[in-house]
Amino acid sequence: MAMKIALAGNPNCGKTTLFNDLTGSTQYVGNWPGVTVEKKEGRLIGHKDVIIQDLPGIYSLSPYTLEEVVSRNYLVNEKPDVILNIVDATNIERNLYLTTQLVEIGIPVVLTFNMMDLVKKKGDQIDTKKLGQELGCETIEISALHSENTRKAAEIAVQYAEKKKKDLPHVFTGSVEHALAHIEESIEDLVPKEQLRWYAVKLFERDQKATENLQLSEDLLKHIDSHIKDCEAEMDDDAESIITNQRYTYIQKLVSDSVKKAGVKDEMTTSDKIDRIVTNRFLALPIFALIMWGVYYVSVTTIGSQLTDWTNDVFFGTWITNAASAGLKAVGVSAPVISLLVDGVINGVGTVLGFVPQMIILFLCLSILEDSGYMARVAFIMDRIFRKFGLSGKSFIPMLIGTGCGVPAIMASRTIENEKDRRMTILLSTFMPCGAKMEIVAMMTMVCFPGSIFVAPGMYFLGLGIVVLSGIALKKTKYFSGDPAPFVMELPAYHVPTVKGVLIHVWERTKAFMIKAGTIIFSMCIVIWLLMHFGPSGFLAEDIDHSFLRYIGEGLAWIFKPLGFGTWQGAVASVSAEVAKEQATATLGILAHAASDSSADVATAINHLFGGSKLVGMSFLLFNIFDAPCMVAIATAFREQGSKKWGWITFGYQMLMGYCLSLCVFQIGSLVSGSFTVGTVVAIALMVIAAYFICRPNPYKKTAVGRFNEA
Ligand code: GDP
Ligand code: MG
Repeated sequence: MAMKIALAGNPNCGKTTLFNDLTGSTQYVGNWPGVTVEKKEGRLIGHKDVIIQDLPGIYSLSPYTLEEVVSRNYLVNEKPDVILNIVDATNIERNLYLTTQLVEIGIPVVLTFNMMDLVKKKGDQIDTKKLGQELGCETIEISALHSENTRKAAEIAVQYAEKKKKDLPHVFTGSVEHALAHIEESIEDLVPKEQLRWYAVKLFERDQKATENLQLSEDLLKHIDSHIKDCEAEMDDDAESIITNQRYTYIQKLVSDSVKKAGVKDEMTTSDKIDRIVTNRFLALPIFALIMWGVYYVSVTTIGSQLTDWTNDVFFGTWITNAASAGLKAVGVSAPVISLLVDGVINGVGTVLGFVPQMIILFLCLSILEDSGYMARVAFIMDRIFRKFGLSGKSFIPMLIGTGCGVPAIMASRTIENEKDRRMTILLSTFMPCGAKMEIVAMMTMVCFPGSIFVAPGMYFLGLGIVVLSGIALKKTKYFSGDPAPFVMELPAYHVPTVKGVLIHVWERTKAFMIKAGTIIFSMCIVIWLLMHFGPSGFLAEDIDHSFLRYIGEGLAWIFKPLGFGTWQGAVASVSAEVAKEQATATLGILAHAASDSSADVATAINHLFGGSKLVGMSFLLFNIFDAPCMVAIATAFREQGSKKWGWITFGYQMLMGYCLSLCVFQIGSLVSGSFTVGTVVAIALMVIAAYFICRPNPYKKTAVGRFNEA
């Protein structure tokens, strides 16, 4: 049977870095907590029979957050053979708190001190051997980032898994041990011997899950409770706090005996100096705005778009379609098939691939910002803003992840304990434009706003604005009202991103993008071509005005009339974008080619579809960026909301947001050029309603007086 090694530790201690190093896989490493919310499995390189399991980061084994539940269930119920407990050696005290719990589960623990490179640089001295002896664990010092000693850690784990485990550390005082002994005695026959201590402590803490698991009889429960109560009376504290406090006291003593910090220097570290400026109350936001503006401007508008122009000329220019047609004709392929391959697949998939250089630059910039530690600061800065209207900065982390892809963003909301805040975060996080949506932005910038310095960064800030304003409005509703959860986030030290780390990030995202182009987008382009070349009268060679696609589009176009792009092409592009957002680009690529003579470039041809109007183009862009995300993200939201009702609320809110935003912009834009219609009135009414919900005083906020009255 294969051996299982579990990686457990606090958030951001380097578990995933170690996991990737040992298994050769490329899981997401983020320089902020809460990245791994699901456990991931891999095999130790060179050892097919050793399975390594990356667990979500946790501070303790109390089931308060979903990650804690995932990790705890795995460790207690599935019983890996050995635990590699990763300890961030720059932060020993907090990390060992978890260790004192892990050793109680009855599985051998290897204390793995990570980030030793940083410790050495600082000049701290840690007696890791002594800590290991005290806690009853094997120890090893590693640096996961630099692959130092990582293989050795795995080897020790494999050897240690087979050995008998050592004694438990002496964490608790006499009276607690007394109660624990009585509890152990009374459940001895009900639990495996090695898990006795774990269950005894959990029962002492009155942990609900553990109590349910054991299905104890009434009598036994009463008996146990009397021992707990005795102890509580003696210590004058509740059982859970007693355990927590004693764990901390124990660790403090341990650490003061075995850790020597290098003389506290008076000067600040470089990280502190940078943070002084970057998280400064007044400068933080302008700096953040400038950086993000730079990222989106550079990747979508300048360097990125030049690269895209170049690839489009070289790889996707008309020569390629011409050459493909000629080549296929020469080998005797029939005309309809040539049309399918050239007009459908090459034009459609080609348009999507044409924007890949822009995406690569964008992913590169975002990876550098994440890996350096700056994005963790942004979450910290956002906490100050979010807190004002009752959301915690924790909600912002999924949104940061959402700039890559909405699916992991929605998953990351699992780290939020409070159900209401989690629901709201799922609902809002996909408003941050993801990579696929940035393709539409890149295309529409090229088509309607070439060289604009505002459009691409503007979409990012608009996304953020929608999140903040929606948050403010929703927090004033009955369901969502409530105080923000505390957000304690340690800021990781800045470090120069490693080339390898950044490249892995960029490659992973780009690869996912290309795979999507080769599968979903490819198939959708064939579907679009088929619908465009078949009609009620059968196969149509040229006459797309009588195609099924046009009839479908016409049938839906009325929906988009108030938004300005109520043409059959606009409707088809918007609807197909629900399959995958970048499909909007592919569909427009196909439709534009079909509608214009083949020599026109894509940008001009697409511009024609929008009647050459910047306003219509903008309206199309806004709707497709801020309506519901793609199919996969919608399905993820349904699943994570855990109820059909909330799934539909999420979807409905997002659709409504995209529609109303686009409607307001188009109608007010038309008003400027003198067109006053029913639509204008509706738009003004919508804006008034939105303003009311954002600005009204919170009817559910409990004032100090209110609370006093209730009590
Ligand atoms: P996880 O949350 O425990 O999975 O942690 P990650 O593996 O995502 O790593 C968090 C951060 O710590 C990343 O920025 C890593 O590059 C960094 N890191 C991990 N191991 C080391 C190490 O040994 N030395 C240094 N200096 N940084 C590390
Ligand atoms: Mg991780």
